[in-house]
Amino acid sequence: MAIELRILGRHQADEHNTAFTYNGVEFSQNNLHTFAGLNAVDTREYVEQTFACLQNHGQVCARMGAYKPRSSPYSFQGMGKECLQWVFELAGKYGIKVISMEVTRESHIDEINEAMRLSGNATGAMLQIGTRNTQNFELLKAVGRQHEYPILLKRGFGITLDESLMAAEYCASEGNTKIVFGLRGMKTNFGDPHRNLVDFGHVSVVHRLTRMPVCVDPSHSVGARGASPEGILDIFHVAAQGVIAGANMLLVDMHPVPKKSLVDAAQAITLEELPYFLEDVAIAREAYEKRLALAKRIGL
Ligand code: PEP
Ligand code: MN
Repeated sequence: MAIELRILGRHQADEHNTAFTYNGVEFSQNNLHTFAGLNAVDTREYVEQTFACLQNHGQVCARMGAYKPRSSPYSFQGMGKECLQWVFELAGKYGIKVISMEVTRESHIDEINEAMRLSGNATGAMLQIGTRNTQNFELLKAVGRQHEYPILLKRGFGITLDESLMAAEYCASEGNTKIVFGLRGMKTNFGDPHRNLVDFGHVSVVHRLTRMPVCVDPSHSVGARGASPEGILDIFHVAAQGVIAGANMLLVDMHPVPKKSLVDAAQAITLEELPYFLEDVAIAREAYEKRLALAKRIGL
């Protein structure tokens, strides 16, 4: 391997295994979890409806954005710390164990800690590093220095895979190896009409080079609700493409009333679509498991 992944690389001995269990949920290269939910927290009603829907469909993980890095300073910047405690309390009420939540500066970790404590540790958090911060090295070191929360490190949209893997290694080098590596598409007009060029062909590459579980984000990759002629959303198609290649986590924007979503409204699926999405994902997962069995049987 050209790059030096001392901790996360596969060349290392078993003590560097990066499978982990957090708040009762196991993350590894061998299983799959869906994190659907609000791109950005807005109202209490929408948050509660979202958690209730997830619970109804057997889900214990969710996404919720409180701190939103936006391209424009005039766009909604997220509700910030004021929403954290009630979001965590509601999550606990509906049995949610892990919420993926982006942080953009070190003090956000302290705010999450404090709100989590005030909520009576009602749920758990996974600290998301967004694509705009993949090489914010001080932030990487800060999330790596805390060993409580796992990390979802999203690939940078305009840097090489190696550079993004090194960003994950930055976190690990500070002692936190509970890291999920997130693919979310690359910024180039060659992906048009998708928002980003889908990079889920790299699921197997990250599996091969590291021991990290791999997340795919079909929402930020596709960015819109286009569908194939038979009516299957592109978001569903690319999610299935990630899952059939062995992805271990799905991060999906979902909103009770997508057009009211304050961030990325065009790419949210509805609550009514969740069971359909989960069933579609299960089909792809079953196909992946059959592919594994086939590979084992042929045994090249
Ligand atoms: C997000 O998941 O809310 C997000 C901003 O994603 P990305 O960093 O991949 O753009
Ligand atoms: Mn976004």
